[in-house]
Amino acid sequence: MLGKVPIGGHAPITVQTMTNTKTSDVQKTIDQIRDVQQFGCDIIRVAVPDEQAAGAISHIKKAVSIPLVADIHFNYELALKAIDAGADGLRINPGNIGNIDKVEKVVKKAKKHKIPIRIGVNAGSLEKDILEKYKFPTAEGMVESALRHIRILEKLDFKEIKISLKSSDVMTTIRAYKLLADKVDYPFHLGITEAGTLWSGTIKSAVGLGSLLAQGIGDTIRVSLTGDPREEVKVGLEILKVLGLRKRGVEIISCPTCGRCKIDLIKIANEIQDKTSLIKYPIKIAVMGCVVNGPGEAKEADLGVTGGNGVGIIFKKGKVIKKVPEGLIVDELLKEIKNLDETLNLD
Ligand code: SF4
Repeated sequence: MLGKVPIGGHAPITVQTMTNTKTSDVQKTIDQIRDVQQFGCDIIRVAVPDEQAAGAISHIKKAVSIPLVADIHFNYELALKAIDAGADGLRINPGNIGNIDKVEKVVKKAKKHKIPIRIGVNAGSLEKDILEKYKFPTAEGMVESALRHIRILEKLDFKEIKISLKSSDVMTTIRAYKLLADKVDYPFHLGITEAGTLWSGTIKSAVGLGSLLAQGIGDTIRVSLTGDPREEVKVGLEILKVLGLRKRGVEIISCPTCGRCKIDLIKIANEIQDKTSLIKYPIKIAVMGCVVNGPGEAKEADLGVTGGNGVGIIFKKGKVIKKVPEGLIVDELLKEIKNLDETLNLD
């Protein structure tokens, strides 16, 4: 459990992101967490590079309702402080903390507060001897590193573990998770690290995470993008929705347009997508350019529009309900969405 959110087993696969504010800037961090939560973020991670950041956690926790994970590198004292401040989980690698006494102190406190620890192996920071053995950051090397960290915690009888094996190389990441999945039964946090900008990072993450999730590997995901954390959440949820692993929000079915299209469909589809991005209940909206395929496809959707000559024909569950001028299509569709039952299958 991360706070009230279950991870692993048959629990729904969760979406995480990480704030990019200074954690010590309490108000900015709270604002960002609330913002990503609106877009469906289940778990938030914050960087804890110093004492101010560790201390800020107690204030942030009071103002947000999703579980908060403290991300700590090397410094066991910051880990202790973050737990005392109310963090719901830690991301720290026990092999990097220092001697076993320090690890023991962190584990003891984590046990007392019943919080899990994520071991986050990153291809870019493998141990020196592992790098020497494998020559470059291989999947096997990442797995060996993870097992090292895992064994340290297991020796201290600590099993509330979650593991990530991130590389910026998609195939290495996939291989590493698959190798480790054969060896341990702990929940996995999936991610492709340093995946790039919104465009390239989305593709890399969809391919890497999607491939693992389709094989039943992965319990919680974070899409890393050089961009707004809000986009990470949106992409993460979309990956889960595409795979049928979560139901949430609007799914737009829209045609690619062709010479038969008589309305500005690209603009309309994008406008509908933007204006419905905060809707939580699952709903399918079809946006089709013409009557050739439009009505057939729109039939499957909760709501749909097909373009005519400067007009939009609006469908609800396959039945035509109105014809409106092109300029009113978006407003009329939004009106109909509001009329739908908002209690539909909330997840
Ligand atoms: Fe072309 Fe109509 Fe198909 Fe859209 S729905 S791609 S406009 S034929």
